[in-house]
Order: sequence, then C-alpha cells, then structure tokens
Amino acid sequence: MAEHLELDPESISRFHYYDDTWRETTFKCDRCGWAGRLRQDAEMEILDATGSWYSCPACGKGLAWVVFRTYKELQEKAESGDPEAIKEWRTGQSVLQRRESYEREKLKGPDQLPEVDGETLDFEWDIVGEENKDGPGYITS
Ligand SMILES: [Zn+2]
Repeated sequence: MAEHLELDPESISRFHYYDDTWRETTFKCDRCGWAGRLRQDAEMEILDATGSWYSCPACGKGLAWVVFRTYKELQEKAESGDPEAIKEWRTGQSVLQRRESYEREKLKGPDQLPEVDGETLDFEWDIVGEENKDGPGYITS
C-alpha cells in the first residue's frame, strides 16, 4: 500500500467504465517508473460516488479515474449479454426490491399505529448494523 494517494481529478486520466482501454492498457507511472495494469496491479480506492480511483502501488501517484457506469448503461450492457453486467444487474435488482418493499410496507401515518392501553409508553431504542457512525443507522425497538 502506498503511503499516500495523490488523486487530483484535474491531472489524472479519466476513463468511462465500459471503455475497455483502461482494462487492457499497461499504465506507466511517470514519477517512479512502475508499470502495470489498473485492475490487477494498481491500488484502487473508491473515494466518492463518481468512480474508482487508481494509483501507483509504488509511490502513490494517481494513474487513472474510472467513472462508474450509470444504471441505464448497466442495464444496456446486461441486456447485451455481458456476464459481469448481468451479475451486477441482478444484485441491483435485489436492492431495488428491498427499497420497494420498504416503501410499500412502511407506516404512512399515525392512524396505522395500534391502540395501546395505559398513560405512558416506555421505548427502548437500539442501533444495529451501523458501521459508519455518521450514517443513517437502523433503529429498532
Ligand atoms: Zn509511481
């Protein structure tokens, strides 16, 4: 692992995910002379939602930025029979189904809450499945 990453979108080569040249090209680091392919040899980081950032494993200099495909591009690629795209498409469908069932089943108003007896309610709150402490979390009772 390189000690530091230098990933400047202004100075780094940018590729589209389905442009195969970035997969087949041997990249050469112009600072230290390291050479290799991105996926097999370089350091990869996903720093934000825009794509994968690759850097030299020897010195950390940024090599390339591969911009993520869009949902529509993935769909078209899957429909064309690409095995990787088909696999990703299926994974995406289960996420969409989960989101749809959440929208369908979530409470939409206070009239859906059950009638309860008594003057007061005691709740216990817990957060589960929370890896990123700044994230939304999952609250269960
Ligand atoms: Zn280097």
